[in-house]
Amino acid sequence: MQIFTTISEMRQVRTDGLIPTMGALHEGHLSLVRAARAACETVTVSIFVNPTQFSAGEDLAKYPRTFEADCELLRAEGVDFVFAPSASEIYPAGAAGTLVEVPGIGQRLDGASRPGHFRGVATVVAKLFNIVQPRLAYFGQKDAAQVAVLRAMVRDLNLPAELRVCPTVRDTDGLALSSRNRFLNAAERRAAAAIPRALERARALVETGTCASETVRQAMLWELVALKVDYAQVVHPETLEPVNNVCPRALIAIAAWAGETRLIDNLLIEKPR
Ligand code: AMP
Repeated sequence: MQIFTTISEMRQVRTDGLIPTMGALHEGHLSLVRAARAACETVTVSIFVNPTQFSAGEDLAKYPRTFEADCELLRAEGVDFVFAPSASEIYPAGAAGTLVEVPGIGQRLDGASRPGHFRGVATVVAKLFNIVQPRLAYFGQKDAAQVAVLRAMVRDLNLPAELRVCPTVRDTDGLALSSRNRFLNAAERRAAAAIPRALERARALVETGTCASETVRQAMLWELVALKVDYAQVVHPETLEPVNNVCPRALIAIAAWAGETRLIDNLLIEKPR
């Protein structure tokens, strides 16, 4: 496995599949690596804690960085290349260069709670696509709003990469794996399990015929009483606009704080009975 820190080194190799990450890797990331490994000739994982997707007061400085351990995991998965640039390699003029904005979609869900977040995400992913030039790029369904933003970006800018979306990997109690879970103390970790419980409650309602988004939302909010809820919404999976009915397709998305840690999760309803 070769590790590159500069754009010019990265440009000298051909990548078939790219997995963009911010490091602090866990089984969720590795599921994307395995999907890429199965479908691609050469696999690149980027590790870059992208400053432009954090706003002032967010956890950029304390975001976990475990580079050596990450490389060990990636080596064991048979990854070909790791691209781990510095912030100044990606943003030589500081953060204020050309930005990629996905209007509307980029301002909903996390884009509403974290203004500028998806502009930072879209900008860095566009840059990574231009640097690495993958045929396929792998993302997790856990970040469903990010997927909607990036799908729109790829469509609108006619980017040649094809997006592949992989299912959310969860802990035994259902909590979605996240690099931020390590910040949870024991009580917060227990409380956080209400998020997947709320989504399961939503799934059960939909499966027994409930269609009204508000009924689903209220049931989820009951499960989430111990957490500070940022949003619990039922939206269209592509536009992220609120929908009144879960049927026939909807994204049920939650963001909630367990102590100081903001967690997100979602459930995609495709074919309710
Ligand atoms: P991050 O390092 O948090 O930016 O995540 C990098 C990629 O891994 C994103 O496409 C995420 O959606 C994906 N990812 C993170 N957690 C999970 C998970 N629990 N299951 C599946 N994919 C995940």
